Amino acid sequence: MIKPIYKLLCLVYPEKCPYCGDIVKSEAIACDKCIEKINELQKPIFRGAGGYRCVSSFLYGGSVRRMILSVKYCDTIQYLAQVAKIMAKDIRTAYGDEPFNMITYVPMYREDRKERGYNQAKLLAKQLSKLLDIPCEDTLIKVKKTKKQQRLKYAQRKTNLIGAFKVRDKEIIKGKRILIVDDIVTSGITLGTCCKTLSRAKPRMLCCATIANAQHHLPDTAII
Ligand SMILES: [Zn+2]
Repeated sequence: MIKPIYKLLCLVYPEKCPYCGDIVKSEAIACDKCIEKINELQKPIFRGAGGYRCVSSFLYGGSVRRMILSVKYCDTIQYLAQVAKIMAKDIRTAYGDEPFNMITYVPMYREDRKERGYNQAKLLAKQLSKLLDIPCEDTLIKVKKTKKQQRLKYAQRKTNLIGAFKVRDKEIIKGKRILIVDDIVTSGITLGTCCKTLSRAKPRMLCCATIANAQHHLPDTAII
């Protein structure tokens, strides 16, 4: 496990290409070689997630898939700073005329977060918060340990998340325009369940944003 201080420094000084690991200039979002590859996968995708609007910056696959897996399982969270720059642009394009009051994220169950050492969705939300100048708030808590969604059949994915999330503080949500962030949207059930949970606290608007959209891997009937 990488020490927290190093992780913090990595977020401030990204220096590698998120898609191949080569050294890049500190402001670059990718190396020259990978820019072409990610341009092919980068096409802001506007779809629904559980009945809520969602914008994703990439199709899930190839170098984008490798980058997300690396962030999740190999502690390369510094890549999120570069990815967030691409997402911020797409979020502005998708929702430009609808300014958000807060950014939030899909929470992890406490034990799972402890095991990984971080929640990549929260780190991503924090990066977006800086870039878009919108405060990042902890709004949801995951109160139930659930099975990994991607390991379940589609019919089981919905029941798996029943009662999984709770609102932390209804008062900070009421009347607000909220953007909720995650790394990937597949069936839309996770983001949809989070939005539905938040909607009980009566926000004014709920929209979603993810790095990647993996819906092309699913049959149409499995997307909500
Ligand atoms: Zn590269």
